Amino acid sequence: MNVAIIGAGWAGMAAAVALAQAKIRVTVFEAARHPGGRARSVEIEGIEIDNGQHLMIGAYRETLRLMRTVGADPDRLLARQPLAIEYPGKFSLRAPRLPAPLHLAAALLTAGGLTFGERMAAMRFMTAMRRNAYRIAADMPVAELLVRHRQTGALARYLWEPLCVSALNTPAASASAQVFLNLFRDALDGARANSDFLFPRVALGKLFPEPAADFVRANGGSVRLGTPVRTLDKTAEGFVLDAGPERYSHAILAAGPHQIDALLERFAALAPTRQSVAALAYEPIYTCYLQYPQEVSMPQPMTGFDGGNVQWIFDRGRLNGIAGLLAAVISARGAHQLVSQNDLASAIHRELAAFLPGLPAPLWSRVIAEKRATFSCRPGIARPANRTAVDRLYLAGDYTASDYPSTLESAVRSGVLAAKLVLEQGLA
Ligand SMILES: Cc1cc2nc3c(=O)[nH]c(=O)nc-3n(C[C@H](O)[C@H](O)[C@H](O)COP(=O)(O)OP(=O)(O)OC[C@H]3O[C@@H](n4cnc5c(N)ncnc54)[C@H](O)[C@@H]3O)c2cc1C
Repeated sequence: MNVAIIGAGWAGMAAAVALAQAKIRVTVFEAARHPGGRARSVEIEGIEIDNGQHLMIGAYRETLRLMRTVGADPDRLLARQPLAIEYPGKFSLRAPRLPAPLHLAAALLTAGGLTFGERMAAMRFMTAMRRNAYRIAADMPVAELLVRHRQTGALARYLWEPLCVSALNTPAASASAQVFLNLFRDALDGARANSDFLFPRVALGKLFPEPAADFVRANGGSVRLGTPVRTLDKTAEGFVLDAGPERYSHAILAAGPHQIDALLERFAALAPTRQSVAALAYEPIYTCYLQYPQEVSMPQPMTGFDGGNVQWIFDRGRLNGIAGLLAAVISARGAHQLVSQNDLASAIHRELAAFLPGLPAPLWSRVIAEKRATFSCRPGIARPANRTAVDRLYLAGDYTASDYPSTLESAVRSGVLAAKLVLEQGLA
């Protein structure tokens, strides 16, 4: 067996690690000069930083497992904090260190900014979802589910809607309630630690993609960076790529969903797959880095904002030791896409200055707009399976069929599953 993997994002590298661990020869082809795809390190103003602020949760079981496999110790590289949502002066929720789901019940009962009626409504919602094992008969927008269960007012505005747009990168008005509940089940009703926030302490490349590439090379595989694959064919001797003369027994296509069409076009049997992927819509994520003087900091690692452009501010000084560096995150589509990046950075500075009176102008700022950050996670969308209609050709990526939205965890799980299918096929 000799497997070609196209794409060194988290899905492609997860597949490569799983196969290399099973002593299968893998060659990873990556168009960019760095691995990591949509969760990679970039350099700005001489600082190694992320293409976009990321947050993981304790329920990211496979991601944490594979990090350990490649020697990237999650306990050292991630700052673990119990679930905490803070909109200063408006809303505050902290999960105490109690067993699940008591921790969530206690968090709701002690949350600041909720009326007694809202707390009770939240408890009833949780109980109802639990009773139905987090399944709904027919998918619907999250906003509709919230209204049906009287999750309105501050509950919707500061808890469910921000959680929905952050986790699904799709506004509650159009996001899939079933996918939201799947995350709810794993994060909020599993072990207490599953709901912990895990903040990267190092640039994203060092969390997994780079140690994964080292692991693959150390186990006899190769990772060819700066090597785009433009054509993929299957002959009697195996898969052939324009990127080299070798033949491969199996291929895993781990490019992003908007990048795979040209690589599938030579396979007539894959027309339905191409159609379902072409039907996916996308949502952006904007991250604006603002470097202030070293003494500037936020009261906690992650602070909620509402009423303006900014949804969350991450204090990179607290998290990564880059004092004075703040990352403002805006998930999903919105009016911020209509202004220039300079104007957006200025508007974000003004929103911050309203919160931190006397805030000096930033020393520098930079907006990174990831226009196709994730697929738009709407009710009932069709996602392709890992196994394709072409024998020994598999798909891997955050968009393949799973009960999770587009996340690092769905990418990693998809990569691991694709590797498992290769192994099963090889042994058959
Ligand atoms: C700004 C931002 C913030 C996010 N925040 C979070 C978060 O907080 N938590 C979370 O869990 N998730 C978050 N996500 C989502 C997460 O980053 C993605 O779900 C995940 O990285 C997708 O990984 P992937 O491997 O499926 O795809 P990709 O990362 O898109 O990887 C595909 C790779 O294939 C390569 N490629 C494409 N075509 C070719 C070709 N022809 N030849 C060779 N190589 C090719 C690409 O260069 C790329 O490296 C965020 C995403 C963004 C953009």
